[in-house]
Amino acid sequence: IYILGIESSCDDTAASVMHNGRILSNVVANQKIHEEYGGVVPELASRAHQQNIVPVVAQALKKANITKDQLHAIAFTRGPGLMGSLLVGTSFAKSLAYGLHIPLIDVNHMQGHILAHFIDEEGFNKPPFPFLAMTISGGHTQIVRVDNYFDMTVIGETIDDAVGEAFDKSGKILGLGYPAGPEIDKRAKLGNPKAFKFTKPRVDGLNFSFSGLKTAILYFIQNETKANPNFIEENLNDICASIQYTIIGILIDKLKLAVKQTGIKHIAIGGGVSANSGIRQALKDGEQKFGWTTYVPKFEFTTDNAAMIAIVGYLKYLEGDFAEQNVAASARLKI
Ligand code: ATP
Ligand code: FE
Repeated sequence: IYILGIESSCDDTAASVMHNGRILSNVVANQKIHEEYGGVVPELASRAHQQNIVPVVAQALKKANITKDQLHAIAFTRGPGLMGSLLVGTSFAKSLAYGLHIPLIDVNHMQGHILAHFIDEEGFNKPPFPFLAMTISGGHTQIVRVDNYFDMTVIGETIDDAVGEAFDKSGKILGLGYPAGPEIDKRAKLGNPKAFKFTKPRVDGLNFSFSGLKTAILYFIQNETKANPNFIEENLNDICASIQYTIIGILIDKLKLAVKQTGIKHIAIGGGVSANSGIRQALKDGEQKFGWTTYVPKFEFTTDNAAMIAIVGYLKYLEGDFAEQNVAASARLKI
């Protein structure tokens, strides 16, 4: 079974061809344009999707070495995401499926991040059901209980900023480029994580909050630079290490609580922030300390990509779960 996956929920235009659960191609066109604005500009994103989508899909088919007539279904991201961006992928997928007389499959982007763990990849184990999925990205922070492919329950999520935003907004305060996550990660390795202390937010249960941390960092920096204008330059690595240490602490505390509450000890992570080396190390350390097992997908399947959309498409294809031609994109689609 050949499935074409299309992803256009945010600022990456992506297409992937999958054959029976294996990836034949995984093409992503990043939109550089947003860097100069320090964040994604929705209007520019949808325009870039319009320019990118035809060449990206053509390249995905070419790399997979198949023609569009060999496809069995088209899977696309229906939501959640930016409406203007989603509309480009949705309309494109609909017309292609209609023209080829093949089924159309709508995919929830967040399920995609989770089910990316079921892509067949040498050297990567698939988590057994039930497991806990922690999706940490620029737009989301969720802990999901996964009982089966399409039996998922969100048991915790952020009530304000996503964890990626915590990295990016802290970076902005420090004068780093966008997105700041990778640079904070790099500098954190060279700094002392206990140099500065930021209080963790108090949020009941399994929900997260990151906006208070951003404010705390802002006041801390304002205060310190008043006394020493070179404070940031002189302490940048230590500041980055301390911020990252605080964020990791918040995530691990909630994971521990989720494991305690559910009794589930298999933890799968996804989303762009799961690239963070400190988070990966803390999860690994938890295997000894807390007895859990962690699953980390191949890097290209953790950030926004279309392979994760194609795997959900494949799993839905096997169940005969197809979409109608009148299916509408949904910016706030829930799991
Ligand atoms: P979403 O997936 O929610 O639609 P997105 O497109 O912003 O949103 P991703 O591409 O998955 O999400 O992730 C981007 C985020 O990951 C950015 O906030 C970036 O700073 C962060 N990030 C990437 N690498 C690292 C890293 N090594 N350490 C910390 N954060 C990182
Ligand atoms: Fe995403």
